[in-house]
Amino acid sequence: MRHEGWNVDEFIAGVDERSPQLALAIARDAPFGRLTTYRIGGTAAAGVEVNSVDDLMLVGDAARECGAPVAVIGRGSNTLVSDGGWHGVVVRLGAFAEWIHAEPADGHIGEPLVVGVGGSVALPVLSRRMASLGIAGLEWMVGVPGSIGGAVRMNAGGHGADMADSLIDVEVVDLQLATSGRRGCEELDLAFRSSALGGHHVVVSARLRGTVGEVDDVSRRVEEIVKWRRQHQPGGQNCGSVFVNPVPGEVSAGELIAELGLRGFRIGTAEVSAKHANFIQADSGGLADDVVAVMAVVRDRVSEATGFVLRSEVQLFGFN
Ligand SMILES: Cc1cc2nc3c(=O)[nH]c(=O)nc-3n(C[C@H](O)[C@H](O)[C@H](O)COP(=O)(O)OP(=O)(O)OC[C@H]3O[C@@H](n4cnc5c(N)ncnc54)[C@H](O)[C@@H]3O)c2cc1C
Repeated sequence: MRHEGWNVDEFIAGVDERSPQLALAIARDAPFGRLTTYRIGGTAAAGVEVNSVDDLMLVGDAARECGAPVAVIGRGSNTLVSDGGWHGVVVRLGAFAEWIHAEPADGHIGEPLVVGVGGSVALPVLSRRMASLGIAGLEWMVGVPGSIGGAVRMNAGGHGADMADSLIDVEVVDLQLATSGRRGCEELDLAFRSSALGGHHVVVSARLRGTVGEVDDVSRRVEEIVKWRRQHQPGGQNCGSVFVNPVPGEVSAGELIAELGLRGFRIGTAEVSAKHANFIQADSGGLADDVVAVMAVVRDRVSEATGFVLRSEVQLFGFN
């Protein structure tokens, strides 16, 4: 089947030449929207879970050969897939990227230590593990439901910290150049909710800086953050903040939207959250088109009223 200039059969044949076993694991019309926290949107032309860096490289080789676009998905907490799906190959990191290397904190309070973590580990899992080991500095991660890979790409953050504060380096595969290696944090240009990483980069692991703390103190801070999130953010189907704050630390997208009275603004199956104006909620079984329609109106209204042009934080797949 052809998809915008490439052919799934050619892609699968290309993988098969290199690894017949991996080719068997490729799904056509693979779940994509379903893998996101929005839980709406269509399929990808193909999907595959990889279980080593070698697998990743050969998926990249086969995709390049036939011109297939590739995207990696982590926890899908910052992704919206169009109702018509996406014409590329969606890649998930398998169990090989689900590990945490850390020892119980030992030494003087505040002493630095290093934590190793696989690219698909969920930030809340890492945060809670650190608390149980008495390692401080990563408490904020408990409130961000993404993976380490997605968090590096987005320079995720909250509660006064972000990835750039603790990231030492990453192991990254470049699917375009067919290379893999370590890159220091300073090479990634981490800025507010952005990085120099593109769609062809896959973060396989990261090393983070923590400090020696007390189990009770770190655990208390984690629980405070969980409580704050429950009080201030809605549950349900969303991707967290939809727009990047136009002037980080000074002008918040949520406040601009709220000041225009857009809380509760609805189109079809999507609406601006009443609880947090930078969240757009989707109904169960809703349409991604409705979410982007709400985004478009919000962006226009904010731009007309304030001159700020809101940039989408959520990563969009399959939209024009
Ligand atoms: C309720 C809620 C609250 C949130 N709160 C916050 C918050 O406080 N702060 C904040 O910053 N964000 C927040 N988010 C957004 C989101 O959790 C973060 O952006 C998170 O880092 C995304 O990680 P992910 O694995 O889910 O990425 P995905 O949505 O899977 O992917 C996002 C982007 O990262 C890329 N990507 C994914 N995995 C990798 C990888 N291994 N290597 C390279 N690129 C990769 C994808 O291709 C895509 O471009 C929130 C989301 C929700 C639903």
